[in-house]
Amino acid sequence: MILEEELRLENQRLIEHLRFMGIKDENILKAILQVPRHLFLPRSMWNVAYADDALPLEHGQTISQPYTVAIMLEALELKKKDKVLEVGTASGWNACLIAKIIDPGIIYTTEIIKELVEYSKNNIKKLNIKNIKVIHTDGSQGYEKEAHYDKIIVTCACREIPLPLLKQLKNNGIIVAPVGSEYSQQMYKIRKQGNKLKKDYLGDFIFVPLKGKYGWD
Ligand code: SAH
Repeated sequence: MILEEELRLENQRLIEHLRFMGIKDENILKAILQVPRHLFLPRSMWNVAYADDALPLEHGQTISQPYTVAIMLEALELKKKDKVLEVGTASGWNACLIAKIIDPGIIYTTEIIKELVEYSKNNIKKLNIKNIKVIHTDGSQGYEKEAHYDKIIVTCACREIPLPLLKQLKNNGIIVAPVGSEYSQQMYKIRKQGNKLKKDYLGDFIFVPLKGKYGWD
């Protein structure tokens, strides 16, 4: 009980820190409070669950840094009822944040590593969030079955934005993705406007690489 209160206080402190760093969208900050990050990590890491750092998961993957996630979610301009595609479920934390913000919209999140599909499903179950579908597939090819999407978020590093993702985005939809080399990427917010793409640069970040057909495999 005391531990839970301490973790909640740490979550509050993380939110104050994100506010201080310039994150203004109250829906995002509220979602971070409602989706406790420690539940997406092994118990041995609960002491660092609310540090503003990326943290290691199994299979060489990571749970993204809270500040990075907040920047990406702000750029997506999420609205209630949005239909969202995520590439890279890993722990499922980011998918849960999005699910809370867009409810009753739905998020399809794709993960290429089978064990992480199971891991994220278990994490999502703990919070009883229903508007997420975790799909074990190569998300570099998108998820054609449910296209088109209002928003697409890529939480691993791409060499360039995979063409299927651009095709599966609705007109006026937004895609946010880190693009660059395997070791450092530039984050872009891209809005599809007819056959044109409006690109905004959001800063430099480091992500684990995108695998699959349009990735580094
Ligand atoms: N959003 C996550 C962090 C993502 S880490 C969270 O909230 O915890 C990046 C993830 O992308 C890893 O789990 C990796 O296995 C996955 N990944 C890499 N290439 C992929 C692909 N082609 N399709 C789907 N997932 C992929």
